[in-house]
Amino acid sequence: MNGPFARTICFAILTMAFFFASAQSDALVFRPLGGEEEPVSPTAYKQEVAREVYGRLVEARGDNRFNPPTFELAGTINNGAKIIYPENRIILEEKAYDVCTQFGADSTNALATLLAHELIHFYEKHGWTSKFSSSFAGLEIGNTIGKLSTKIINETQADYLGGFLAYSAGYDVFRKGDAFMAALYEKYGLEEHTEGYPSLSDRRAMARSSAARVGELANIFDAANLMAVTAQSAEEYQIAQALYEYILEDYQSRELYNNLGVLATYEALTYFNENEIKYRFPLQLELDFRSSRGSGFAEKREALLRKAANYFDYAIGLDAGYSPAYLNKACVLTLLEDYGRARFYAGTEARGRAGAADAHTAGSVEVLLGIIAAREGQAAEAEKHFSQAAALNNPLGEYNRKILKGEEVGREEVLSFSFDQTEEVDGVDLINFTRRPRGEQKIALALNPKLKLYGFVLEESPDNSQVMILESSLESSRRVLYLYHLTGKGYAGETGKGIRMGAGRKQVVTEYGEPAASLLSTNGEIMKYGNILFFLGPDGAVRKWAVAENTK
Ligand SMILES: [Zn+2]
Repeated sequence: MNGPFARTICFAILTMAFFFASAQSDALVFRPLGGEEEPVSPTAYKQEVAREVYGRLVEARGDNRFNPPTFELAGTINNGAKIIYPENRIILEEKAYDVCTQFGADSTNALATLLAHELIHFYEKHGWTSKFSSSFAGLEIGNTIGKLSTKIINETQADYLGGFLAYSAGYDVFRKGDAFMAALYEKYGLEEHTEGYPSLSDRRAMARSSAARVGELANIFDAANLMAVTAQSAEEYQIAQALYEYILEDYQSRELYNNLGVLATYEALTYFNENEIKYRFPLQLELDFRSSRGSGFAEKREALLRKAANYFDYAIGLDAGYSPAYLNKACVLTLLEDYGRARFYAGTEARGRAGAADAHTAGSVEVLLGIIAAREGQAAEAEKHFSQAAALNNPLGEYNRKILKGEEVGREEVLSFSFDQTEEVDGVDLINFTRRPRGEQKIALALNPKLKLYGFVLEESPDNSQVMILESSLESSRRVLYLYHLTGKGYAGETGKGIRMGAGRKQVVTEYGEPAASLLSTNGEIMKYGNILFFLGPDGAVRKWAVAENTK
């Protein structure tokens, strides 16, 4: 055998070995083999913390089509974190966990971002792409696809979508990814360059650019939720839908689909007259419903209801156990006068999936069954359901029972708390701000041809607060601006009624009363009052607030 030929074979075998390895797993750091130490068993409380964060991320993603990977904190010291595709398993090394803890107040955010990165490899089926490219191993194209582009695309996507997954689970956007990579390389004693892998400086640059993109998507998500909880007109429901649809192009979750379906339903409700919808529906977003244009829009409203039903189906497709989507779909079927199926979706599917312990869903189911009975002219049956809902502490039970009996329901004074006070952040008058914006413009984005989003960080302190402006000409040629001033992580001020960062829900209710509307999501709750909205984290503490204005 001559020399060059033997070398060629050797090279091919080495290449195949490399691709075999990379097809099996995606690791955070790559370490050439050799010099491995005995793994030690990881500290119990760290195991517990990591598992809890991991569980919250899986829950927030809400995609139960396939079993999520199992997770453990490991005592090995090779890869930092990795997903092992054939075993459907994710491990985080205690050594990498310790790198997270170097980031003080940001350590949980670092941990969540790291674990979410690995989970995205699973949800986006990167195991499949690496298996696919490994089948070209040894061919030139295999080299190109497998070694560089797929790897880098997958890593970039895992950084970007992982960052957003962590945010949607209630963690802050982790903006120190570049410093994290440096700390990780240092801790693992890695070279700046490893053959076949991006260099440390490349990875730091990638981390910086994905943090900026995650921040932008997080802002859009905030704007979507703010608009969802404040929307009261067809145009505003459309704006909120456009924002969720924009996010869905990159990131899918049952909650996004469910919210979209609810917003399409609310938009449809604006095309009914008051007589047709005198009862209040237990739709999952507990929003106030006022405007209506009366009948004469039969086609328009039916199209919107069908669209909503589709979105609920997508949510159910991601998670067959997600009861809110069944209940919301039952509401839509009721509006479509498909009572038989509506009853089945509410009484059997939603109730069954939620379980007996979930009094909120059980009460909502009774509300809807009452509405169906009332619409079918069975007053006694309807009253029974409304009373059962009331017994389960669902306020819509009593409200709808009064409507059924023709009793006075009383005027709602949802805005009474805020008339006496207009809130501001950093003393900024938002309407004036639109005439003379200041600070640094961070976002300028066309969500669609008739909807734009702008973001400004006030120059004094980037962590202090930011202004978001939605510019809409969806309904008419006259543009309407929706303005939000959001407090940032470092905001030290207080609201007009003395609420500060970290205050509990109870404190907010003591000062401001029960919210006019509230939006529950995987990352907590948004409480709406007049022109101020509070963002509570999953722990029920105030994480930030937003002052809202518009130029309607
Ligand atoms: Zn990765």
